[in-house]
Amino acid sequence: MILILKPNIETDSHEYKQLMAQLNSLDNIQISLHKEVGIQQVLTEIYLVGNTSLLSLEDMKSFPCVENVVRVSEEYRVLGRHKDDNRPTSFNYNGLHFGQETLHVFAGLCAIDNPEHVELMMKALQEHGQVCTRMGAYKPRTNPYSFQGHGKKCLPYVFELAGKYGIKIIAMEITHEVHIDEIKEALEQTGNPTGIMLQIGTRNTQNFELLKKVGRQQEFPVLLKRGFGITLEESLNAAEYLASEGNRKVIFGLRGMKTNMGDPHRNFVDFAHVPVVKRLTRMPVCIDPSHSVGTREADPDGILDVMHVIAQGVIAGANMILVDFHPAPGKALVDGPQAMTLKELPYFLEDVRIARQAYEDRLALIKRYQ
Ligand code: PEP
Ligand code: MN
Repeated sequence: MILILKPNIETDSHEYKQLMAQLNSLDNIQISLHKEVGIQQVLTEIYLVGNTSLLSLEDMKSFPCVENVVRVSEEYRVLGRHKDDNRPTSFNYNGLHFGQETLHVFAGLCAIDNPEHVELMMKALQEHGQVCTRMGAYKPRTNPYSFQGHGKKCLPYVFELAGKYGIKIIAMEITHEVHIDEIKEALEQTGNPTGIMLQIGTRNTQNFELLKKVGRQQEFPVLLKRGFGITLEESLNAAEYLASEGNRKVIFGLRGMKTNMGDPHRNFVDFAHVPVVKRLTRMPVCIDPSHSVGTREADPDGILDVMHVIAQGVIAGANMILVDFHPAPGKALVDGPQAMTLKELPYFLEDVRIARQAYEDRLALIKRYQ
């Protein structure tokens, strides 16, 4: 059960103390507190875990400082959708709004290789009105002899260039908790020119200790990729680990499933799950067409498979596109074969706009028929 308190409630107020005294007297119920510090107000939620079936919604609602009470099912307590649950489905970060109604594009390098390529990428993004990107500094690789990413040493120039080209958020995968401190340090050292969305890759979806550490910090939002060999339910529970530790600024990323049934694509594209994740949870949903498809193959008309699956995800209501681009894919140190070129950037953005318009038309249509 979740008690949503009235905004800006003071913890030393009489109403708050009265409520807490009553809750503390309940047997077999654990209480945990979550504070969401927004721009305009602080929202406090109290989670009651244990034998809550005997508690009445009406009794709980009768406390003067309680605004709403939600009885949650066992699954996805924090991130899930529950009956009469009007908690927000969106969040703000570094001036941008992320929700189940918005769409953001994060085009960029799979792996940072050198300052020249980072600059060419960011310059092209700025020229086309983009304020987000993806940049990998810590690369989890199947082969220990493959390039592992430049790690913390590339962060200062990447962040400085982001500031120079107006990039507000960089999605960056981390594979260990120390990377959070390294990112924070480099941001401080460079004067906080940009924001970071921490990415947890498909190989770490069920790295529970990492999830707990990332969930305990609330500074950076998190993009959690779906595990490529586990069920959707297991991956959604992984997202819940982040939220249960305190960070609910979580975006769920679909990136294809590992099975030969998807051949000749690198992974089996799973963007049919965009509406499923939106129905089960309050998370915005990201699609990663590059790691799903894994090639630059095109149909007989010349439309890349990557572009087709982007359109499929966007027309189904995706809220974020994480996609590999590279100024010289032949020279990329990671995943060059799936990267799109800077020349293709305006074409890609226009195609996304068409698919998004189709989604919005479909929304208007269902509203007319409801
Ligand atoms: C990536 O986005 O660079 C990546 C490694 O993705 P995934 O974890 O989905 O394989
Ligand atoms: Mn990659």
